[in-house]
Amino acid sequence: MPQNRTIVDDNTWEELIELTHGAAAVCFQCGVCTASCPWGLVKEETLSVRSYMRSAQLGLQKNGNDNLWLCTTCAQCEAYCPRDVNIADVFRGLRYLTWKQNQPHEGLPTLLWSVYWNNNPWEQPPSQRTQWAKNLNLPIFDSQQHDILYYVGCTASYDTRAQKVAHAVVALLNAAGVSFGTLGEDEPCSGEEVLSVGHKHYFREMAEDATKAFQEAGVTQLVTTDPHSYDAFKNHYQGAIKPKHYTQYFAELLEEGKLKFSQSLDRPITFHDPCYLSRHNGEIEAPRKLLNAIPGVDLVEMPNIAEDTLCCGGGGGRMWLETEAGERFSDLRVEEALTTGAQILATSCPYCIACLEDSVKARVIKDLVVMDVAEIAALAI
Ligand code: SF4
Ligand code: SF4
Repeated sequence: MPQNRTIVDDNTWEELIELTHGAAAVCFQCGVCTASCPWGLVKEETLSVRSYMRSAQLGLQKNGNDNLWLCTTCAQCEAYCPRDVNIADVFRGLRYLTWKQNQPHEGLPTLLWSVYWNNNPWEQPPSQRTQWAKNLNLPIFDSQQHDILYYVGCTASYDTRAQKVAHAVVALLNAAGVSFGTLGEDEPCSGEEVLSVGHKHYFREMAEDATKAFQEAGVTQLVTTDPHSYDAFKNHYQGAIKPKHYTQYFAELLEEGKLKFSQSLDRPITFHDPCYLSRHNGEIEAPRKLLNAIPGVDLVEMPNIAEDTLCCGGGGGRMWLETEAGERFSDLRVEEALTTGAQILATSCPYCIACLEDSVKARVIKDLVVMDVAEIAALAI
């Protein structure tokens, strides 16, 4: 037996099957997942996705192997898998076992403790959750008065760069005359980052608590800033919440004539599809509809777009882990953006913004700026 492998006992094997819903059972070990995983673009020895699927089938664990935490849950491999294996979910299940054995990646317990104590993964005090909006006078959501709940999310509430996106979303909501509120300091963390690092049981508790909070507030329609929370609400909250990503909501308002762009923006723009909007949820039209509706915008497409998008590298908990220089997917993405001649690299996810901006700065690229679609749209109202 190879040294870094341990055969786990029957109970653990059964738990693994339960945690992964037996997803790996149909895998016939073709290796297409390994070949399509973007780690192969940046690492000499790529992530052996196939062997993790084998581990899940047999109840084996690769102890002491940090590669388990490389997966960004981008689902690129799933798009090519001939057996439709939910590969990201298998990784989450394997990760959960390491939590149970008190052996998660050393960088991640802090994240979980922060969510537990602070209701956010960024180690920020709960009392500061609404500081980003201190001059905006945003009302607390009232189901009798408001059409939608704006779910700001942890990153857009606390991260100074992402706060600008939240400001742009609010400007667009106001420009369209939408009646909306937020949950203020009581806004629950969606738990998407807890799910992505594999702590499925804690995520389930969080989802139940958050669902209760939304139901008590009478929320029926919720609009998110980020695609990760949108995905969690849509696909992992057991259907209790009906979310829209802001790009979807604003594209609808555009069609209804409630949102109009009057200012021209004569700049070539390219769009990076966030994995959690495009590949995970099939939404590729809404952000493009918004960009194309802005007078003067010239939307030029990169290679690897729509469901074939190249992950920025920030999902799957990777925002909380170090990725070595030279191994960042976002560096490749920025290079792809430059080939289009675009001056603006647009996207619609706070994690993508952070990764892509880091790459633009690290490579000292002067003639490309990274902006969220909401920020671009807000310039045009
Ligand atoms: S692509 Fe699908 S079937 Fe092929 S090895 Fe990967 S998980 Fe298994
Ligand atoms: S989900 Fe993405 S990062 Fe994870 S194994 Fe598949 S392709 Fe690789």
